[in-house]
This record gives sequence, C-alpha cells and structure tokens, in this order.
Amino acid sequence: MLCEGVRWFDDWFAIEDVAPGVIAIGEPRFHQNNWNYLICGTRRALLFDTGPGVRDISNAVRALTNLPVTALPSHMHFDHTGCLSRFTNIAVPDLPILREGEKDGWFTPRDDLYVGYWEGMSWTPVRVNSWLPIGSKIDLGGRVLELLHTPGHSPDSVSLLDREANIMFAADFVYPGKLYAQIRNSDLKAYLESAEALLPLIGEDTAILCAHGKPDANRLNRAPRLARKDVADLASSLTRLKASGEKPAAWPVNERMSLLVSEEAFASWQATP
Ligand SMILES: [Zn+2]
Repeated sequence: MLCEGVRWFDDWFAIEDVAPGVIAIGEPRFHQNNWNYLICGTRRALLFDTGPGVRDISNAVRALTNLPVTALPSHMHFDHTGCLSRFTNIAVPDLPILREGEKDGWFTPRDDLYVGYWEGMSWTPVRVNSWLPIGSKIDLGGRVLELLHTPGHSPDSVSLLDREANIMFAADFVYPGKLYAQIRNSDLKAYLESAEALLPLIGEDTAILCAHGKPDANRLNRAPRLARKDVADLASSLTRLKASGEKPAAWPVNERMSLLVSEEAFASWQATP
C-alpha cells in the first residue's frame, strides 16, 4: 500500500520524510487520502492540517518530534481539522470569515466552512492561541514559512511557502485528482486569481506538496507532489472555462487534475466581468 521510502507509524498513519525537516503524515486508508505535514525548525514545529480525526494524529506527531508544535489548519473542512482540539497550541489565519467564529475565547467555524455534516463529524470548540495575518512570516527557527491566502476551493484556504527550501504546501488548492470547486463556497473567480497570484512566487523546481493523494498505478501511496506547471495549467484551464461559456460538470486541467464545477458557481462567475 505504501511506496518505497514511506513507512507505517501504526496501521493508519503513513510517514514520509519528504525534505530535511519536512515530514508528511498520510492517511491513505481514509477515503479522501489526506496528507498532513509536520514542518520542523530548530525551535518549533508546525503541523499543517490535522486530518479527519478518525485516528488521533497527535500520537504520531509526538513520536516524530520533541519540539513544541503549533497546529495550523489549511482551511476548516472537517478532513483537515479533525484533530485540531488535540493540540494546545493552535494558530488560525486571521480572516474575517473565521474571526466570526470566535466567541468568549472559543472558536467554532461556520457549519458551511466545516462541512462535518457531510460525514457525521462534529466540531470540538478550540482556543486559538494566535490569529495569523495573511502574509505572516512564521519563524520556526532556521525556517520561515509565509502564509498565503489561496481562496477558490474554499474562502478560508491558505497555503504555505518556504522560500529557502523551495517548497509550497498547497493543501486543497491543487492536488492530483478531482479538484473540488463544485461545493458551496467554492469560487472560480477566486480560484483563478489565486493561481495567477501564486505563479510569480514559485519556480519550475519548487516542490508543491498537496493535502490529498491517490495511489499510483501499483496502488502504492506517497505524499502527493505537483509542480509550478500544474498551477499554470490550472490558471489557463480556468481562463478557457470562463471564455467557453460552457457549464461542464467536470473540466480537465491536465493529465493529473480536473476541476469539478457546480452550476451555481459557474453561473455567478459568468455574471461577473
Ligand atoms: Zn477542503
């Protein structure tokens, strides 16, 4: 089930050292095949996404590092925030749509941002330790991550850029497979704008690590990777989609990705100049 170089932590979490200090923690048995990333500096570590919460990811994290860990979800969808409450140090992007969810020091995002009702999951309220402004430089000691707002899949989606290591953590913005732009709150205009804004920030050799994978031809799993070309293909396919005036259920991006499109999102995009 796992590619060479990927090992089991238990019978649920798959661990891959993808770059020095960057450890992918995958959940290939989960139907969404989630991949979370433990990114380590010299002083602290950041866990980008906490999985769907079917198993407690904090056990794997504790076994992988002794550094203090901050959990940061890429967006509030249930399959990225399932174990958020297992962490005491929680950071959330400082976006008005998320700030709305804070009351008396406890944070619960809007139902339509969490969408746990899709799979019978329920949110456990958390205390947010830091609200990170977009553009923040998160200093882990010897490693700086830049917080980028990348809406499209959802309005609260963020990605992380490690310029020095030349890695972008794209979460659900791009990944191999069908990109979810058909769900409530998906925004095709924002998707295109985010893709265009990312392109100048990354190079041909930037590694793009994604939050959903799929098994290879031999049914083996590893952390999903894409490249700048995939972001460029996404931008050009969205541009073609807008110009086409068609309303397809799915739209090809390239041989690795396609875009799922809702009637509603497409109509509202066509109505905007
Ligand atoms: Zn998502």
